[in-house]
Amino acid sequence: MCATCGCSGAARLRLVTPHDGQHEHDAQHEHDAQHEHGHGHTHGPEHEHGRTVVLQQKVLAKNDKLAALNRSWLAERGVLAVNLMSSPGAGKTTLLERTARELDLDLCVIEGDQETALDASRISRAGRKVVQINTGAGCHLDASMVADALEQLDPQAGSVVVIENVGNLVCPALFDLGEAARVVLASVTEGADKPVKYPHMFRGADLVLVTKTDLLPYVDFDVARHAADVKQLSPDARMIQVSATTGAGMPDWYTWLGGQIA
Ligand code: MG
Repeated sequence: MCATCGCSGAARLRLVTPHDGQHEHDAQHEHDAQHEHGHGHTHGPEHEHGRTVVLQQKVLAKNDKLAALNRSWLAERGVLAVNLMSSPGAGKTTLLERTARELDLDLCVIEGDQETALDASRISRAGRKVVQINTGAGCHLDASMVADALEQLDPQAGSVVVIENVGNLVCPALFDLGEAARVVLASVTEGADKPVKYPHMFRGADLVLVTKTDLLPYVDFDVARHAADVKQLSPDARMIQVSATTGAGMPDWYTWLGGQIA
């Protein structure tokens, strides 16, 4: 959990457009993480269990309030927000690049990474409006960062905002961003044991995308076992197999996304 994982506070936002390159906007994210995440406080034992639990509850309660504000802001505008989560390298950005090029929907993207605007540049080149959040030492996006990014993006009524979270199967599961749906990617190259190892992430999923299925002939990935484990954790979650390389399964993902708007 975040009181012990090393998250810290200051996030930077930049709007990346194909025309102006990178316009950096410092969004001074003083979400009190230094204090609330429990780093640097000198009073009391650092790893005392009771204190850690209280700090986690405070951080998450504050985040939940901000997430609720994001949710009503999005609802008032008629904008659908989706929180896209996975381990690093599962193919989130590649999925979004192809989606950005193929899907006939008003779609914009919030990118979360510790450093660089590499992913935002890819989305921008695919023709969509995108804001990059750099979390520094932070290992997840929080509702406050997303609120600032939404303001910069200014999404229109009827549009979709896909929030690509920082690649991490642990902390992002804890932080509500105000999204309407949670999508978890699991690539076949990671192995089929991720749901049982990281149950919190999969338990909250509305959709699980099994990605890189074009590589199935070359890797040891038990599709049936993976599906059964996901089903156990999240009985109502939809599961779709996709390859953003070959395009297989992508129409099912588009249909699911379109269905969320309706
Ligand atoms: Mg990415």
